[in-house]
Amino acid sequence: LVDEPIHDAVLGHSAGLYAERTALVDGVDGSTLTYAQLDAFTRRIAAALAEAGLRKGDVLALHSPNTLAFPAVFHGATRAGAAVSTVHPLATAEELARQLGDSGARWIVTVSPLLETARQAAERAGGVVEIFVCDHAEGHRSVLDMRGSTAPEPRVVIDPAHDLAALPYSSGTTSMPKGVMLTHRNIATNLAQLNPLMPAGPEDRLLAVLPFFHIYGLTALINAPLRQGASVVVLPRFDLGQFLAAIETHRVNVLYVAPPIVLALAKHPDVDKYDLSSLEFVLSAAAPLDAELAAACATRLNVPVVKQAYGMTELSPGTHVVPRYESGPPGAVGKLLPSTEMRVVSLEDPDRDAGAGEEGELLFRGPQVMKGYLGRTGETDAMIDAEGWLRTGDIGRVDADGWLYVVDRVKELIKYKGYQVAPAELEAVLLTHPAVADAAVIGVTDAEGNEVPKAFVVRQQGEAGERLSEEDVMAYVAERVSPYKKVRRLEFTAAVPRALSGKILRRELRAAEAEKARGEG
Ligand code: ATP
Ligand code: MG
Repeated sequence: LVDEPIHDAVLGHSAGLYAERTALVDGVDGSTLTYAQLDAFTRRIAAALAEAGLRKGDVLALHSPNTLAFPAVFHGATRAGAAVSTVHPLATAEELARQLGDSGARWIVTVSPLLETARQAAERAGGVVEIFVCDHAEGHRSVLDMRGSTAPEPRVVIDPAHDLAALPYSSGTTSMPKGVMLTHRNIATNLAQLNPLMPAGPEDRLLAVLPFFHIYGLTALINAPLRQGASVVVLPRFDLGQFLAAIETHRVNVLYVAPPIVLALAKHPDVDKYDLSSLEFVLSAAAPLDAELAAACATRLNVPVVKQAYGMTELSPGTHVVPRYESGPPGAVGKLLPSTEMRVVSLEDPDRDAGAGEEGELLFRGPQVMKGYLGRTGETDAMIDAEGWLRTGDIGRVDADGWLYVVDRVKELIKYKGYQVAPAELEAVLLTHPAVADAAVIGVTDAEGNEVPKAFVVRQQGEAGERLSEEDVMAYVAERVSPYKKVRRLEFTAAVPRALSGKILRRELRAAEAEKARGEG
């Protein structure tokens, strides 16, 4: 167990060791912050926030795309005793108001382009004392000006086992986002569990294009590299050209991505226009990644493999990772982290453990299990039992060597005539078709009342895509899967609905189908 506040475990640890090394690079304008500068910035933010009235236990909503100030605000706020509730930068005023109200946020840090949304949301939610910006906006204090603050650094005593460092919201893939209470101990201990398997150092240059607000970005792109002395090149959003150019310009060697970026890297013609020879290590997490797609991406980028990790917001976030200097078998999401227990329980009978190699629901127990959902005791108790086991709702299996494979979510399984079909498996097969640019699968009810897999397919641009017919695609899948898994309905579509974290929003597709069915009925 690491009983150290997260800001001490990260910059408190590395600022002295790597003082003059580059911590952060702005991938757009090239400006940089050294470890010493970033640490000083963080401490000044803590002082200025305390002077503004922030007290231990307050919630600060951090509502911003990736910028150099983001890590400084996160660690500055925790240093002042706040719990940081990170917000999706594309949230609407209504969504932000909901998160502000639900979390009881008293402070907002945003950026000027999002200020109007933040103002409206604060008005609706009530309870917000002040809105700060990370750049400049009239009538609002800027985090940048806090560098000049002469206020004393607050003396806050943090109890790492109980005090919250972060209050991220789950992605809302399956239902409304829930506030996940993560203590300093949760996050700091998970870093200590991950870092020995994912060593990094001053020679490493990472590209931060995944959003910092999500626990994956917060861990893989802020806390893990900044504890270990690496440099992080920061991009505000995913734009393929800008992303590839940044790899070339900054000689990036470590990439953390999500499946949609793996897909783009494997398939987009522009990838070959850039010098990506600096890349050594690519890791994908947050959603199912097909082994064939991963292999195609690795070949294209000339790296040995595209690895995976597995986790969820409620697990701070990690339980499994393919270690930096191991390859792991195709499709594996990793090996169990130290000090973490796992059970795989039978899908038919949750009181029974699944047999060796059998698929079942994944349960975890360990120091990274969240404190609970904020204000939702019922949902917390449904998720974590009296012995501390957390039910993930994910299906997986473990091979004889201990590698975990994640199949899909229990709730997303399609029950076709008593068989279970995982939509993620069909999506993976669809994506191997050269004329398919993207795909999503859900269960729909056919005329006989059976649940059957329906695919939503985005055609690849160009001639091959235009020629692609429904029959071609269905036949392609039928050749590759057991008959009961066949795709039985298909619709071409312009885009697959996804969360910013890269997850397919199957519930949106289901809602659209239900709407259509109501229209027809
Ligand atoms: P909500 O809980 O609000 O519905 P969410 O579960 O998508 O949203 P996150 O905490 O961001 O919110 O995501 C965790 C989930 O992501 C896991 O439960 C799992 O389903 C999926 N996931 C993460 N890593 C992987 C991976 N390597 N392979 C497959 N699925 C993964
Ligand atoms: Mg979830």
